[in-house]
Amino acid sequence: MNIHEYQGKSILKSFGVGIQEGIVADTPEKAVEAAQELTKQTGTNWWVVKAQIHAGGRGKGGGVKLAKNLDEVKARATDIIGMNLVTHQTGPQGKKVSKVLIAQDVYYPGASPTKEFYMSVLMNRQTGRNIIMYSTEGGMDIEAVAEKTPHLIFKEEIDPSVGLQGFQTRKIAFNLGLSGEAFKQMTKFIASLYKAYDSIDASLFEINPVLKTSDDKIIAVDAKVSFDENGLFRHPDYLAMRDTSEEDATEVEAGEHNLNYVKLDGNVGCMVNGAGLAMATMDIIKLAGGDPANFLDVGGTANAARVEQAFRIILKDPNVKAILVNIFGGIVRCDRVAQGIVDAYKNIGSIPVPIIVRLQGTNAVEAKKIIDDSGLKVFSAIQLKEAADLVNTVLKK
Ligand code: GDP
Ligand code: MN
Repeated sequence: MNIHEYQGKSILKSFGVGIQEGIVADTPEKAVEAAQELTKQTGTNWWVVKAQIHAGGRGKGGGVKLAKNLDEVKARATDIIGMNLVTHQTGPQGKKVSKVLIAQDVYYPGASPTKEFYMSVLMNRQTGRNIIMYSTEGGMDIEAVAEKTPHLIFKEEIDPSVGLQGFQTRKIAFNLGLSGEAFKQMTKFIASLYKAYDSIDASLFEINPVLKTSDDKIIAVDAKVSFDENGLFRHPDYLAMRDTSEEDATEVEAGEHNLNYVKLDGNVGCMVNGAGLAMATMDIIKLAGGDPANFLDVGGTANAARVEQAFRIILKDPNVKAILVNIFGGIVRCDRVAQGIVDAYKNIGSIPVPIIVRLQGTNAVEAKKIIDDSGLKVFSAIQLKEAADLVNTVLKK
C-alpha cells in the first residue's frame, strides 16, 4: 500500500526524522490559511505548493511550484488542485490532483550551501536483508544516475540480528561527504529513518531529496512510503491512510471480494486458482498469440459465488476478447467448479466473449461433460495445450 507524501512525512516526524514541514489543503483558500499557519510555526516567508498524488516525478510534471507571497500560494494552488498531472510514473493518462501540500521553502540561501542527497530503505531479496541505498546525486532522476553513473550509488546492508549499527550511519554520512554538525545530524537522520522503516512494517522508503539545509539540518523534502500489506493488520492507524481513489478501481473492488487481481493491458482475461498456475497461464496465453488482460487468482475456494464475482471483475475491462478459466481441482472438485461456471454464466445473463475452460484434477472428465452439455458459449479442455489452441482459435475469429 502506498500513501501520500504528507502522510509519509507525518509518520517520519513521529519517529524523530527531520522533515520539510507542511500542511495539506484541498482548496486554494485553505492553501492560503495553511501558508499563514506555516509561517506562524516555522517563520517561513516562501512556500512550495506540492501536488499530492501516488506517483513521483511531480516536480518535472509541473506539480511542485514555489510561491513567494500569499497571492502566489493561492494562484499556484488554483493551478494544481484539479489538474491532471502527468509524470513518468503516472502513465500517459495522468492522475487527478485533489490535494496540495503547502510546505515551507527550505532552499533559502544561508551560511553554507544546501545539498540534495538520495536515500532509500528497502529489502534486498537476494540476501533477505534490509539495505539503505544512498547517493550524493539526490533530487534528480535516480534511475538515470543508476544507469549512467552506478558507482555513485552506495548500499549498506543491515544485519537483522543486531540492527543498524553506529559505524554504519557514520560510514554513510562520511560517504555523502559530510563533516561537522551536518555529519552528526545525518547519522541521527539515518538512525531514526531506519527505526521508522523497521517499526511500521514498511516495504519501501524513498526520500529524494534528503536535504542538508544552509544551517546544517538534515531533512526529508520528499517521502515515498510503501507498506508491506501483510503487516498492515498490526497498524490500523496507517491502514486508515489508504486512499483508494489513487488505486485502480477494479483492483479495489476485487480486493473487497478477496480476489487477487492485477489489471494488465492485454485481451485475454484469465481466472485461475493459485498464483503459480496464474503465472503459467499468462505464459500459455502469450504462446497462443494473445496477451493477458489481467492476473487473477481466485484462491483455494473456487466456488460459484467467487467464480461469478471473478467473471464480473474480468468483464469490466473492455479490452477483453476471450476468457480463459484454468482451474486445478485439488481440494476443490472440478465438477463443482464447472457447475459454478454454468450458474455464474446464467446469473450474469450474457457474457459477450467466448470462454475457454480448462479444468484438471479431481472429476475433470465429469466437469468437461457439465460444460459441454450446458449449451453455453463455453469451450472446454482438459489439457493445457488444447486450451491454448482454443484461445488461439477464438482470437482469430
Ligand atoms: P517529485 O518530483 O515527485 O520527486 O517531488 P519532490 O518532493 O522531490 O519535489 C521536486 C523538487 O522540487 C525537489 O527535487 C526540489 O528540487 C524542489 N523543491 C522541493 N521543495 C522545495 C523548496 O522548499 N524550495 C525549492 N526551491 N525547491 C523545492
Ligand atoms: Mn522526489
